[in-house]
Amino acid sequence: MQFKNLNIIPTILKALEKKNYEVPTPIQEEAIPFILNGRDLLGCAQTGTGKTAAFAIPTLQLLNAEKAPQGAQRNIRALVITPTRELALQIYESFCDYGKYTKLKYCVIFGGVSQKPQEEILKRGVDILVATPGRLNDLVNQKLINLKHIKIFILDEADRMLDMGFINDVKKVISIIPDRKQTLLFSATMPPDIERLANTILKNPAKVAITPISSTVDTIEQYLYYVDKNRKKDLLAHILNDKIIESALVFSRTKHGADRIVRQLSKANITAQAIHGDKSQGARQTALNKFKDKKLRVLIATDIAARGIDIDELSHVINYDLPEMPETYVHRIGRTGRAGLGGVAISFCDFDEKEQLADIEKLIGKHLIEIENHPFPLINNFPAVKIHRQGIRQHRRSLLYKEAHSKKLLLLR
Ligand code: AMP
Repeated sequence: MQFKNLNIIPTILKALEKKNYEVPTPIQEEAIPFILNGRDLLGCAQTGTGKTAAFAIPTLQLLNAEKAPQGAQRNIRALVITPTRELALQIYESFCDYGKYTKLKYCVIFGGVSQKPQEEILKRGVDILVATPGRLNDLVNQKLINLKHIKIFILDEADRMLDMGFINDVKKVISIIPDRKQTLLFSATMPPDIERLANTILKNPAKVAITPISSTVDTIEQYLYYVDKNRKKDLLAHILNDKIIESALVFSRTKHGADRIVRQLSKANITAQAIHGDKSQGARQTALNKFKDKKLRVLIATDIAARGIDIDELSHVINYDLPEMPETYVHRIGRTGRAGLGGVAISFCDFDEKEQLADIEKLIGKHLIEIENHPFPLINNFPAVKIHRQGIRQHRRSLLYKEAHSKKLLLLR
């Protein structure tokens, strides 16, 4: 099955080609035809299954086919609500990517940052709005957003909305948008509250369920090393010295961190290259091709740069830093163990990352196997930075926003 067999218009097919998407994922294959036919949809699928494209592609296509006011007269015709700003940004980026050759305009809004730049973008006219529920309701209350023209409403990660206490915000949004609209609801699990919500808001929905990714990664051996932050580099070199590791994709949380790891490994006579947003597309592609062709054994990547990397026979994924979002862990390690080859995922955890580890283990429903006898055990059982954890998260979020802003992600295309 190819995307063109799903009746996707050339304008979008061209953008998918640019993203190197060759075949639709199972949820895309199943969901896209229903959505294009105007059906409501209940999708039981987690992040990592390709669900964003499953709703973004047909939404773009349906809106693109409609005659609608242009410029500042544009109305918000599709609304996506999602629980976190990271997810909101990712979804927004997906719309920008897949809709690159359409004339549609997009905007993403979320809390924790100034609303002014978001207001400015909204004023210029938007077709598709991606939002977290709190900020959305704020702007609706201030009459800065009109939801009366919504044709397609997408509720993403409904179960997490519930877990995070956003369900009333969500219900408020639902009460404002028009009744005659197409609704798509995605949730990784279907607790009774979500089932009830689905029954109230969906009309004769098509149902699509995809095996949760946490079970698909069950075949991967997942090991854990507790280690001090300042000894991670030594532990990495120690692990990579084992020639049993044919190819390793090492994840770093930051771009600078990725470059630093390359330098540190070089001191230990281990060749590695980094791919991240500050490297040119050409440099990234060259490093990636070398890695795929087995001419480069160790590739260091940030999550954003690693997106879309599809490598068969990748023996090891190493989480040098644990991700902020537990789903990202599943994305990362899912890059090994493809095609039933079995793979190994190794995670480093320092004192400050214990909370993230707990979130990951909760999501995948099991404990990683701890390797206790290694030369660089965790000794410093106190926080490295004396900033309240919430403060760190807030800081990282504002960096994320700034980064997106500087990449003009928040500007209209
Ligand atoms: P999602 O589940 O929407 O978070 O998507 C997971 C990842 O898969 C994202 O990095 C997408 O860019 C990527 N992806 C989605 N659909 C495809 C596809 N058909 N082919 C290759 N990569 C895809």
